[in-house]
This record gives sequence, structure tokens and C-alpha cells, in this order.
Amino acid sequence: MPEKVIIIGSGPAGLTAAIYAARANLSPLLFEGFQSGGIPGGQLMITGLVENFPGFKNGISGQHLMAEMREQALNFGVRFIMEDVESISLNTSPFSLISTSGDAYEAQSVIIATGATAQRLPIHSEPIFWGRGISACAVCDGALPIFRDKPLAVIGGGDSAVEEAMHLTKFGSKVYLIHRRDELRASRIMQKRATTHPKIEILWNKTVEYFFGDKLLEGLHLKDTVTGELSTIRVSGAFEAIGHRPNTGFLNNQLPVDDKGYLITKPGSTVTSIDGVFAAGDVKDSHYRQAITAAGSGCMAALEVEWWLQNKFE
Ligand code: FAD
Repeated sequence: MPEKVIIIGSGPAGLTAAIYAARANLSPLLFEGFQSGGIPGGQLMITGLVENFPGFKNGISGQHLMAEMREQALNFGVRFIMEDVESISLNTSPFSLISTSGDAYEAQSVIIATGATAQRLPIHSEPIFWGRGISACAVCDGALPIFRDKPLAVIGGGDSAVEEAMHLTKFGSKVYLIHRRDELRASRIMQKRATTHPKIEILWNKTVEYFFGDKLLEGLHLKDTVTGELSTIRVSGAFEAIGHRPNTGFLNNQLPVDDKGYLITKPGSTVTSIDGVFAAGDVKDSHYRQAITAAGSGCMAALEVEWWLQNKFE
């Protein structure tokens, strides 16, 4: 017998979808992932304190939050498989999936909640200061006390980098925007905002050579891409804004994506172009990319699956 619904991904989107689907008696099977698109629990497993998820007045660690969500899903009978989905066939009915161990599964409906992976700079000192001054999300981490009234840096040159820099001007004493070229890739309006903001200083033609500090990040060594000249800036925070990669490789181009590679869903819903296939969370959202919005769209996906199954099979 095929599963009624298979959920792929165990971040806030996948686990919220699982909780709703289980409470609707759909007895969901959930692939937690393993390594191809991030670790089980998703992106919050690699961050520290989450201060903006409602319900935790003193904040909660990302790992603790995800452990609680998983337990909640488990309590409602969700079945977990800690493997990646290697491939999926969406042109069959039911849909068929193969996991890392080579096992095959079938499902009447599928929720894709595989998230997106933040690109990180391949610099050997970067992992040392990750979570100790280095982050990939200014909206998430910018308000933390270690960044308040301190000089900060954003690395990147697109719209996201400028948005991150603008956001950080609310907290930091100064924000360096470090870009490897002599002009920003950001839209004209964003460029104007960055170049005219009194707290933002753009460091053109610079790449990060390495991050330094003691226990926490204290600064960056930079290299000029034109002259090769080395320089140092002292900052307490560095935010990498060099892009995200939606985890869609296993889909093998069976679903349409936008120009950034994110899955396209019908506006205001999680419905994809294939009947019975739904997408939730960061894998379809290049704009908000927050745990609460991912959880919200996981809820929408489970409700839409429930209604779709009712119409189709009852
Ligand atoms: P993810 O959390 O990315 O989860 C994706 C899941 O899919 C993972 O379990 C992965 O293993 C699985 N997966 C991927 N590919 C496969 C596959 N082929 N087969 C099976 N499983 C697969 N948001 C906030 O609201 N507050 C914060 O403070 C905050 N801090 C952040 C700090 C950092 C450093 C980062 C990077 C992000 C932060 N975010 C924060 C953003 C938040 O983590 C994401 O918006 C949220 O996790 C997205 O949830 P998701 O379920 O869509 O995807």
C-alpha cells in the first residue's frame, strides 16, 4: 500500500507539516535527511540562540527547539527515517522514492520541505568563529547582545547583502559592506540605500583572507582584488551574504524553479505544478527564510494535502 503522504525534510517546515498530518490521521512518513541537504533538524541545528520564535520568552537554542518539535511529532505517531531521499519519480501514480539505502517507497502525495543551504566562505578559520561572531542571517542574529553597538561586516554584493547591511545598521555602531568587485550586483535602489547610509562603508574590491579573534571574532584580514594589498578591519560580527542553494537536486528538474533555483508554488499556497506534490519552507521561499514562516507553510502544506486526499480518494 502506498503511504498517504511522505514528507521530505525535518526542519521547521517538515516537522510542522508532520504534526498537522499526523493529527489529521494521515499517518505521515518523514525522511529526516542525513547529509545531502543539511543535517536532520535543518538549519536551526547550526545556530545558537533563537530569540524570535514565539513562545520562548528567554529564547531557545536552535537544537533544543528542533528536538522539541521532533518529540511533538513523535508523540503523534509520525514515523521517521533518518536518510536522504536520493531520487523521486513524480510522473508515476503513486509517486515513487528511493532513499540512500536503496529502499523504495510509494506515496499518494508528497510534501517537499528540504530547505536551502546557506553558502559559506571556504576559509579555514571560518568554522572556528561560526556562531562566535560569524553568521549567515542578520535578521536572525543581528539583535544578539554580542553585536550591539559594535562594528560589523557583511560580505557580499547582491540585494540580500545590502538588506543584511541595512538591517544591521539598527544594532551595530558601523557596518562594513565587503565586496570583491568595484560595483554592487544589487538593484539600483538598494545600491543607493547602501552608498548613502551614514553607517555603511563599502569596501570595494576586497575579499576576506581570514577571520581572527580569541574566543569570539575580533576582525578580518582582507585582500585587495586589484592591488593584492592586505588590510585589517576590527569587527565583532561578520555576516556572510553570498547566497543560498535550495536543496532540490534529488528532484532532477521535475518541478519548475525560479531564477534563483527555488521551487515555484501557486501564489498563497504550497501547491506545485504537479497534482499531489506540495512544497513548504525555505525550499520555496527566497524572501522571508525564517523558522516561523517555514513552520507556517508546513502547516499550509499538511492542510492542503488533507483536502487534496479527501477530494481525490474519498
Ligand atoms: P531547513 O531548516 O533547511 O530543513 C531542511 C531539512 O531538509 C533538513 O532536515 C535536511 O536534512 C532535509 N533535507 C534536505 N535535502 C534532503 C533530501 N534529499 N532528503 C531528505 N531530507 C533532506 N530563523 C529564525 O526564525 N530565527 C533564527 O534565529 C534563525 N537563525 C538562523 C541562523 C542561521 C545561521 C541560519 C543559516 C538560519 C537561521 N534561521 C533562523 C533561518 C531558519 O533556520 C530557516 O528559515 C528554517 O530552518 C527553514 O526551515 P525549513 O524546514 O524550510 O528548512
